[in-house]
Amino acid sequence: MGRVLEHHAKELLAHWGVPVPRGRAVATSRAAGNVAVGFGGRAVVKALVPVGRRGKAGAVRLAGSGVEARAEAAALLRTYVRDYPVRQVLVEEPVAIARELYLSLTLDREARRPRLLLSARGGVEIEEITRRSPRALVSATFDPLPGLAEYRARELWKAAGVGGRILPRLGQLTALLARAFTGLDAYLLEINPLAETTAGDLVAVGAVLAVDDAALFRHPELEGKVLVASEKVWRPLTAREEAVNALNAAEPYRGSARYLELDGGDIGFLCGGGGASLVLFDALVGAGGQPANYAEFGGNPTEAKVAGLARVVLGKPGVDGLFVAHNITNNTQVDVVARGVVQALDAAGKSAREFPVVAREVGLHDAEGRAIFAAAGVRYLGEESTLGDAARAMVAAMRERYGGEPG
Ligand code: GDP
Ligand code: MN
Repeated sequence: MGRVLEHHAKELLAHWGVPVPRGRAVATSRAAGNVAVGFGGRAVVKALVPVGRRGKAGAVRLAGSGVEARAEAAALLRTYVRDYPVRQVLVEEPVAIARELYLSLTLDREARRPRLLLSARGGVEIEEITRRSPRALVSATFDPLPGLAEYRARELWKAAGVGGRILPRLGQLTALLARAFTGLDAYLLEINPLAETTAGDLVAVGAVLAVDDAALFRHPELEGKVLVASEKVWRPLTAREEAVNALNAAEPYRGSARYLELDGGDIGFLCGGGGASLVLFDALVGAGGQPANYAEFGGNPTEAKVAGLARVVLGKPGVDGLFVAHNITNNTQVDVVARGVVQALDAAGKSAREFPVVAREVGLHDAEGRAIFAAAGVRYLGEESTLGDAARAMVAAMRERYGGEPG
């Protein structure tokens, strides 16, 4: 999944013809003040972070003048909102809201269709309201190929309790948002509030957008606007996670490196293949080891990619040993893995003669790989050893080097 920040989400929506407030993202309080002055003084200042519910966190501020906008921006910039650093604020022209509606589009994996959720009671209390009265939320799936028909959208809004003169335009806008959702290969598009203004217009005041990062190749308009690998949405990426994204971007076609940083731990974990990695991780923990991270690659990566990922794994403070293991089904060349790992150890100034490294690698070119590992002093295990044996050997190597009780 890839997250899109709100100012970019609104630019994209505007391109689809969705009415959004005028606004600009800025990185300094002075610029925020200037933008507000351009709007005649009054402005909404919002922290630009890739998570919602900022209103509740005090990160959406109303300013009555340029001076106030500058002060509100200064109060938000360089703070954290739900663990995300606020590097920019979005300064928008205020919308005179008469009524706050709620609309979201998600993918329903069971129905294998987009799902539309609507409520007449949008705004910052939507979660509370729908928890207490689930019927405040109207839900329906639709076929993305013909798309959502306007008449159907109107009926759904009626079921949500919205009627009157706004209904035709609401149906039109909802069908348009459904097209934008499909057209952007989105996972999530939430408009909250979808505001009905005092003048009787509709405006997307709050927008949350997440797109399918596997479909980016067919969306030049999303270039530079998507925060990738943000399935870890509960926190910002670490510098090392960012570095692995850069590795994949530099070589998109040979092997995909994945890296997840864990709290604590002392064993660098560089293993491969989804299933085998999980087995290895459990085996390591079961043997009494503490992985510091979780890194895997598959799909025949280049030596540079292996080396880059191994350097990232070794670069986390507190990593005192390295576990490298693959099952034969990973289809990765053992000599390439060996060269990459040895290159990373050299670059990190670590010798496998002092720094515990256990490698369990089987498959193509394993005789060559064994020789490269052996020459570097790496403890090498081949196909005669199980994944469990390898994990126990790693934990034993840590104890031998640093002491400690057997688990
Ligand atoms: P969220 O809390 O992260 O979803 O941020 P929103 O962009 O939805 O803003 C939170 C709330 O602030 C909205 O639900 C509105 O009630 C209010 N708000 C935001 N922008 C405006 C605006 O332009 N005019 C008015 N009157 N209220 C706004
Ligand atoms: Mn909102």
